[in-house]
Amino acid sequence: MDVPDHRRIGRQLKVYATDDACGPGLPLWLPAGAVVRAEIERFIVDLERRHGYSHVYTPQLAKRELYERSGHWDHYRDDMYPPMDLSGEQVVLRPMNCPHHILVYRAEPRGLRDLPFRLAELGTMFRHERSGAVGGLSRVRQMTLNDGHVFCAREQVESEIASILGMVRQAYQALAIPAPVLRLSRRGSGPKYAGEAEMWARAEAMVRSALAGLGLDYVEAEGEAAFYGPKIDLQVTDPQGREETLSTVQVDFHLPERFGLGFIRGAAYERPVMVHRSIVSTMERIVAHLLEVHHGAFPVWLAPVQAVILPVGPDALDHAAGVRDALRRAGLRADLDDRDATLGARVRDAQRQRVPYLAIVGEREVATGTVSVRPRGAEQLPVMGTAEFVDLVRGVAASRSAGLLPGTGAP
Ligand SMILES: [Zn+2]
Repeated sequence: MDVPDHRRIGRQLKVYATDDACGPGLPLWLPAGAVVRAEIERFIVDLERRHGYSHVYTPQLAKRELYERSGHWDHYRDDMYPPMDLSGEQVVLRPMNCPHHILVYRAEPRGLRDLPFRLAELGTMFRHERSGAVGGLSRVRQMTLNDGHVFCAREQVESEIASILGMVRQAYQALAIPAPVLRLSRRGSGPKYAGEAEMWARAEAMVRSALAGLGLDYVEAEGEAAFYGPKIDLQVTDPQGREETLSTVQVDFHLPERFGLGFIRGAAYERPVMVHRSIVSTMERIVAHLLEVHHGAFPVWLAPVQAVILPVGPDALDHAAGVRDALRRAGLRADLDDRDATLGARVRDAQRQRVPYLAIVGEREVATGTVSVRPRGAEQLPVMGTAEFVDLVRGVAASRSAGLLPGTGAP
C-alpha cells in the first residue's frame, strides 16, 4: 500500500498549486482546496463563538519595536523576514499574532468582570523558512493560524485550559482525526527562554494541576516550551509515522509583564495571565494532515464536491440537471458530469476525486423521478427519490459525521 503524501493527493484533488512565478513556500489555494479551508474556518469560528470568543482582525505588519517589546525580535529573529524601511520607520511582517492581540486587550481598561477575555483570529503570519526546507502545504512561508488568546485571572486558568481541551476534542471528532497524545512541553536550558525560574515553575504547576483535574495522561518533553511559557502540545502521528503538533495551549506570565497589562480587581491593579491556544493549527497544516489521514476521502461536510450526477443518454440530462440544482438549493456542492465518455469512465473519474456520492440517472430514473446512488466505497443503494437523496446528503453533511450513511462510521 502506498504511503499517503499530501503533495501527491493534493495535486490529484487539485487542492493547491505552486508556481515559480510566486515563489517557493507560497502555495496557491485552488477552488477545491479553498472549499475545504473555508469549511474548516467556518466550523472553527462557530466553535469559538459557542465557547465565548470574540473575533478580531489585526494587521499583518507592525513596527519592529512591537516585536522587540514582545521578545520575538530577540528569540525568533532568524525565522522573521528582514524589516522594511518605510521612510525611516522599520516595519516587519508578523511572525506571530500574539502582540497584536495584546494591543487589542489594552485598547480599553479592563476589570475582573471583563475576564476571561477571549480573542480569536484566523491570523496570517510569516516565517522565513529556508528555500530548501519548504514544500507542499506543511512547510510554508506564509500561513494562517487558527489563533486565540485568553486573558484571564490566575484562578481562571485551569478552567480555560479545560474548555480549550474540550474544543480540541470536538474539532478532532468532526474532522475524524484520531485522539492525540498530550505532551507537556517544558523549558530547557539556555538563553532561549525568557523570564524567571519562579515564573516558569508557577506556570508549569498550573498546567499540571489542570491536566490532573481532568484526569488526563501526558508525556513530558524538556526544551519544547515556547520562549515565554510551558505548553500542552497535542501530538498526532501522520500515516508516515511522523509526529507533529496540531493543537497547543500555552500558559504565559511573561508577555503580560513585558507589556504591563493589567485589570482592576477591587482597589488593586493585577496582571492577567495570557493563555495562547490553537485548536486546529494553521489552515495549511490541518489540510495537509487531513489529506493524508483520509487519503483524500474527506468527510462529506468537507468534501470539495459532495455529489456528482451522471446522466446516461441525452434524455436523462434534464432530470440530472434538476437533481444537481436541488442539491445546490439545499446548500450542497454538486456537479453534473455529462461529458461524452462511457459511464464507467466517468464513474472512475469521480472515484479518483474521492467524491462521496455518485448519482446515476438513466431511463428508469427519468421515468420515476428517482436517482441511483452509489456512496464512496460502498454498494449501490436502493433507488430513491430526488428529495430523499437531497435529505440524505444534507443530513450527513450537517451532522459532520465521518460516515456516508446516517448512523454509520467511516466506510
Ligand atoms: Zn500567541
